[in-house]
Amino acid sequence: MKSASTRHTSFLAVRFWFINALNHRIKYLFILFFTLTVSTFALANNPQNEMVQRIILQLQSNDINSPAHALQLVQQLESLKTHLNSQQKKWLIQAKCWHQPMKDQRQMEQALLYANQELEKFPQDTVTATTVSLQQCRAYYTQFVGKLADAFTQLSNAINHAYQLGDIFLVAQGRGIRGAISSFQGNHSIAIKDLITAQELFKSLNLPHWANANLTELAASYRRSGDITTALRYQLALEKNYLDLGKNFAANQVNIHIASSYEQLGNLDLAIEGYKRSKLFLRDSHPILAADMSVSIANNLLALGHPNRALNALLAAEKIITPQHNSPYSFMQLYFAKTYFDLNQYNKALLALSLAESAFAKDNNQRYVAKALLLKNTLLTATGDYQSANSALLAYIGVHEQLDLQALSQQNAELQARFDTARIQNENTLLIKAAKEKELRLDALKQNELLQSVVIILIAILLLFVTWFTFKQHNKNKQFKVLALTDELTKLANRRDTYNHAERLFRQCKTEHQAFSIISFDADNFKNVNDTFGHDIGDKVLVIIAQLAKKVVRNEDIVGRVGGEEFLILLPNTQQHDALDIANRLLQTVIQYPWTKIAPKLQQSISAGIACYQDEEELSYLIKKADNALYQAKDCGRNRVVVQPQKQ
Ligand code: GH3
Ligand code: MG
Ligand code: MG
Repeated sequence: MKSASTRHTSFLAVRFWFINALNHRIKYLFILFFTLTVSTFALANNPQNEMVQRIILQLQSNDINSPAHALQLVQQLESLKTHLNSQQKKWLIQAKCWHQPMKDQRQMEQALLYANQELEKFPQDTVTATTVSLQQCRAYYTQFVGKLADAFTQLSNAINHAYQLGDIFLVAQGRGIRGAISSFQGNHSIAIKDLITAQELFKSLNLPHWANANLTELAASYRRSGDITTALRYQLALEKNYLDLGKNFAANQVNIHIASSYEQLGNLDLAIEGYKRSKLFLRDSHPILAADMSVSIANNLLALGHPNRALNALLAAEKIITPQHNSPYSFMQLYFAKTYFDLNQYNKALLALSLAESAFAKDNNQRYVAKALLLKNTLLTATGDYQSANSALLAYIGVHEQLDLQALSQQNAELQARFDTARIQNENTLLIKAAKEKELRLDALKQNELLQSVVIILIAILLLFVTWFTFKQHNKNKQFKVLALTDELTKLANRRDTYNHAERLFRQCKTEHQAFSIISFDADNFKNVNDTFGHDIGDKVLVIIAQLAKKVVRNEDIVGRVGGEEFLILLPNTQQHDALDIANRLLQTVIQYPWTKIAPKLQQSISAGIACYQDEEELSYLIKKADNALYQAKDCGRNRVVVQPQKQ
């Protein structure tokens, strides 16, 4: 009954300890959790962080008004570099590449150099979002330094990598740029395939600004390939998009494209109206572009049969457009030539025409070189210079033949591309699906990682508890063990422990043929002490005797209390005369102790018997010998040492 209740109490104690420890730990965990939450909250809400996120979002969504604006955003981001996390830092590397200043040829070459340097920082076969974006950025600048074929190859590589990564944005961006390059080169079929793909992907990513920029290229590509109706449909949608977004400059650019589409469709009044609107819009901020509008208006006025009005428009444009502005200049001179022709001023017309022809040639605009040559033929015929007219015609035929051949080779492919949109859409859907699945997989993986971390932390905490608990338990067991082998009153080895030690030392001396002595001693007339001074004083006497005995012996010797006032001293490696010395010293120490300090008139002595190992079979014989010697000492009057009788 008693033992059951004790067990129950100790179980309660353990549970109490555990809960206590847990409470303690929970307090710390709570503090840790609280600190983490507060710092995360502070981090997430600091103003720099908010600004970083805003800038990145703006750049990523392409919600920017001009290259200068983008450059400014990137510089702002750069100045906040210390607040960027590793992902944002990677992103800054790309953004810096894409938004290099490129106002003139020198800056474009500089930008290309920069992209190359950034790419060289990565091992060559690295395929990550950062490197693919940098590859595309490099290709983008490569086209501006005039190496269109190189740019095309680089982009095709980068696009393959983007597909490998399943990165929809990079696929769209790469194909958008490649499409624009192809369109510029006059490869409309390839251009349209790329641009439609990019368009679908930007839309699926919900990136309206990217989609709009791409749509501009797509429409231009349709217009260049001669499908004006489709081009116009896209352009009108695009203009509405920009107006809805409040991007008036971009909307105006589209308005120019719309006017030129109307022009190509023969809707000249609408075209003039559009150009006029854009001219007004650009007049103050972009005078050259505004003058270019006058040039376009003049062309339409000519077509409508108003050469005088056309001339006025051209003369106004001439005040602003110089040979330096090669492209608008070439058209301006062409229309001057047409106007002067209509006004029968052939010499002026011929002069303007030769300026136009060389300007078109400088731009490598073969289509208009051909047009200029045809006009030259008409003009020279009108002046009666048939020989020159004929050579102009031959030159025209030469250029035109080339253009025809090019156009023919493209026509089939173009038709194919038009009817390929369904397949492109299907491909895109698959890509988007794959990317979504990848995202889901990544999410699941992240969640798994989180779960794993939580489990690891919990296990670690549990292990810590268990280790601590085991350690405590181990210490307790050790204490119990010590308690079980120690005499409570004197703190000496108790009888059991003393006999264990004795047995061990006995075996050792037997196998190793060493000396081994023991002293058995007993307090003299101790009963009297109890009777005269009381049990407590008796106890004190026993404690003092124990301490004195400990002092007298060496460290390796063992003193044990084997009975009420009986003690045993184990002396390994000790010959008889040394044992005798020790016993005598103990005897003297005890008798000389100032016992009266404990109780007046108190006196205490001990008697001791010594036995030395002499091939005894068992320990008990040796102890018996010591006890016999002790009895002899008692018999002979106490306060003395007797050595065992020696074997003969
Ligand atoms: P002798 O000189 O022959 O040994 O005589 P003695 O009185 O010492 O021997 P005896 O065996 O007659 O008495 C021993 C006494 O020791 C009896 C007992 O009351 C006392 N004793 C035993 N253990 C303790 C103890 O732990 N504390 C105290 N105070 N007395 C004890
Ligand atoms: Mg005694
Ligand atoms: Mg005794």
